[in-house]
Amino acid sequence: MKLLIIGPQASGKGTQADLIAKRLNIPHLSSGDMLREEKRSGSELGKKIASIIDKGELVPDELIWHMINHHLKQHPEGWILDGFPRRLDQAKLLDRHEPPEKVLLLEVPDAVGIERIAGRRICETCGKDYHIKYKPSKEDGVCDADGGRLIQRTDDYPEAVAKRLADYHKQTEPLIHHYERKVVRIDGNKGIEEVWKDIQRRLSN
Ligand code: AMP
Repeated sequence: MKLLIIGPQASGKGTQADLIAKRLNIPHLSSGDMLREEKRSGSELGKKIASIIDKGELVPDELIWHMINHHLKQHPEGWILDGFPRRLDQAKLLDRHEPPEKVLLLEVPDAVGIERIAGRRICETCGKDYHIKYKPSKEDGVCDADGGRLIQRTDDYPEAVAKRLADYHKQTEPLIHHYERKVVRIDGNKGIEEVWKDIQRRLSN
């Protein structure tokens, strides 16, 4: 199955995409995770990426497509894409190579997203994500996977968040119309378990 998951910042895309990937046995391809991994590596490309994403700006299409396409080619059986496409041009690029079968749209009001972002944390060393209230680590401030320090993403600071939300409404929302007949709307303003149940029900229809 070839799936997209779209929705505003902190709508739960990453969490739900992980669950879907496990259930369908397909990879969860997150453009944001790929970029953050390159940033953590400290490479020249990683430094360039950091200067863009830390301000909440979008990286150039060629760069992100190069990364995504590399993974798509390795998984002809299917995938769930999270964070890509983010603009109409990116969607058209994807459609030419690998048209998605369904597009899950996670809907949450901006105010809810902003409240969730304030509690979001990420492991400094491995990138695993947490939320202080909804998805806490076992030990406060410490990653369950590798013991790394939990920090706030630089692009989760309020100024960058405002920019990213505005970009979502202006640049990503047009994808809903573009993929109209493939879109499955999910109310993301519920707990993780409830949203997951809704997704399973809708995917099996
Ligand atoms: P995310 O984890 O999806 O919120 O992505 C984090 C950041 O990575 C975004 O704010 C952008 O700076 C960058 N990014 C992720 N996906 C894309 C994309 N498809 N096109 C351009 N920039 C992206």
